Amino acid sequence: MSTNPNIYVTQPLLPPLNEFIPYLEKIWTNKILTNGGPFHQQLEKELCEHLGVEYISLFTNGTIALVTALQSLRITGEVITTPYSFVATAHSLLWNGIKPVFVDVDPETLNLDPAKIEAAITPQTTAIMPVHCYGHPCDVKAIQKIADTYNLKVIYDAAHAFGVKDENGSILRHGDLAVLSFHATKVFNTFEGGAIVCPDLKTKQRIDQLKNFGIVDEVTVVAPGINGKMSEINAAFGLLQLKHLDQSLVRRKEIDTIYRERLAAVSGIQCLSDSGEVVANYSYFPVLVSHSYPLSRDALFQKMKDHGIFTRRYFYPLITDFPMYRSLPSAQHSNLPNASDAASRVLCLPIYPALTNEEINRVIEVILAI
Ligand SMILES: *Cc1c(COP(=O)(O)O)cnc(C)c1O
Repeated sequence: MSTNPNIYVTQPLLPPLNEFIPYLEKIWTNKILTNGGPFHQQLEKELCEHLGVEYISLFTNGTIALVTALQSLRITGEVITTPYSFVATAHSLLWNGIKPVFVDVDPETLNLDPAKIEAAITPQTTAIMPVHCYGHPCDVKAIQKIADTYNLKVIYDAAHAFGVKDENGSILRHGDLAVLSFHATKVFNTFEGGAIVCPDLKTKQRIDQLKNFGIVDEVTVVAPGINGKMSEINAAFGLLQLKHLDQSLVRRKEIDTIYRERLAAVSGIQCLSDSGEVVANYSYFPVLVSHSYPLSRDALFQKMKDHGIFTRRYFYPLITDFPMYRSLPSAQHSNLPNASDAASRVLCLPIYPALTNEEINRVIEVILAI
């Protein structure tokens, strides 16, 4: 039970503290704090099993993982990406001296619209960086077809897509690489953390070198790598977190169901559908507010705040509205009508395992009391 009457859009999953102490005792005993220690190795192994992927490389956070993913495939020139995401998606391109080329999203899924990608390809294009927004899978087949035709790499920003599966398995197996975030606000957190999922050992070895200064052995450095290693304390927490994850997803699903049932009849409040996932992760609960609702999105956002309910307008503003992007030709709103429309209407409602039915009621009552 929460003593804070405020309700936030999310709350991190924190297992009982006493369960974490034995992990700390192990670290204090073996005195291995980082550099691919035993917890790091064990978490990589358990995540591969849990997610159903071949290889994974853990990182200090998702953003450094995105930056390193691009470097590992030697991406240069221009990369096609979505404006409708967290700003780190595009920042990872700028950190590599790559020019982002923004393409509009599909109005239903709010993921990169494959039908609009080809028109944005130039001789400089080397890759596509889509986002599985809210954990809803992109049209991976259509994107791969374009990538094959034009010989482009595909790096998925899968920061929202932990555990999501399509009919054949993990959504993370698509593309050349998929990047996860284990930030406190994500479905699976290690306080801060991230990972790159890759299909073969050779790629994993290169990524492992790049996250450790480019070091191969005591006397060999092959690239200007970064320090992106996950520490033992974060990896240990991840192992504990994994034990509680399935249970937390059960609760997330219940909350998702309650919202959908109670909001179905509310005119002007549209819940987003799934986009073909067979296993979902219920990481966010976005709704789109339309003109048939009596309040504007921003008025509803404010009204919620007045009631101590802190929703978030993910993703408003669009990445393309920030000063380092807005002068790009592809960043103009006329190029991005669907993303602009969604950004002006979206509201993410509170969803996290500890959210009580009473609290969900409070959220819904504010939306209904108009
Ligand atoms: C959270 C997030 C990131 C960044 O991850 P960090 O671990 O916070 O660095 C990148 N992309 C998207 C879409 C995200 O939601």
